[in-house]
Amino acid sequence: MAEGECLFCAIIQGKIPAKMVYEDSWNIGFLDINPRNPGHTLVVPKKHYEFLSEMTNEDASRLLPAVKAVASKVRNATQAQGVSIVQNNGQAAGQAVAHVHFHVIPRFATEGPVAMEAIMPVKKMDEQSLDKMAALVKSAPEGSAPPVQEPKAEKLAKAKTLEDLIKDD
Ligand code: 5GP
Ligand code: ZN
Repeated sequence: MAEGECLFCAIIQGKIPAKMVYEDSWNIGFLDINPRNPGHTLVVPKKHYEFLSEMTNEDASRLLPAVKAVASKVRNATQAQGVSIVQNNGQAAGQAVAHVHFHVIPRFATEGPVAMEAIMPVKKMDEQSLDKMAALVKSAPEGSAPPVQEPKAEKLAKAKTLEDLIKDD
C-alpha cells in the first residue's frame, strides 16, 4: 500500500485524529480505536513501512526503545499485571493496517488465558523434526519473504510435522 493511502500515515500527518500518548523523533504512540483492554496502545514508526522485514536496521533499532517506553507507561497508567506486545506481520498473521505497528495491551491475571495457546494450539514436533527445523531456519535468508501461493499456504497451515511442512507437492 502506498504511503498516500495509508491510515497510519494520515494519523502521523495529523489528517486523521488519534489519542496521542507518546512521541519521539522517529515514532508515535496512540490509543487503539478498538481497545482489547483500556490503555491498548499502538506504537508506529513515522516512516511508512508495510512489513517489519522492510525496515532499515537503523529504523528498526529505534522502534524497540519506543515500544519499551510505551509498555512501561501503559502498565503504570493502568496498573496492569502484565503487558502483551503483539506485532502482526502480514495479512495471514492478522495485520489489517499495512504500516508496521506494535500493539501494547495491558493484561490482567483474572481475564483468562494469557498464553499464545489462546490463539494458536501447540503442534507437537519430535526431537529429530525440531533439529531439522532449526537447521532450516538457521540457513534461511533474511529480508522480505517471497509471496506463497494460496493452495500451498493452506497446506502449510495444516502441517502437523516438519515433513508435512517441507515436502513438495
Ligand atoms: P492489526 O490488525 O493491523 O495488527 O491492528 C490494527 C489496529 O489498528 C487494530 O487494533 C484497530 O483497532 C486499529 N485501528 C484501525 N483503524 C484505526 C483508527 O482509525 N484509529 C486508531 N486509533 N486505531 C485504528
Ligand atoms: Zn503508512
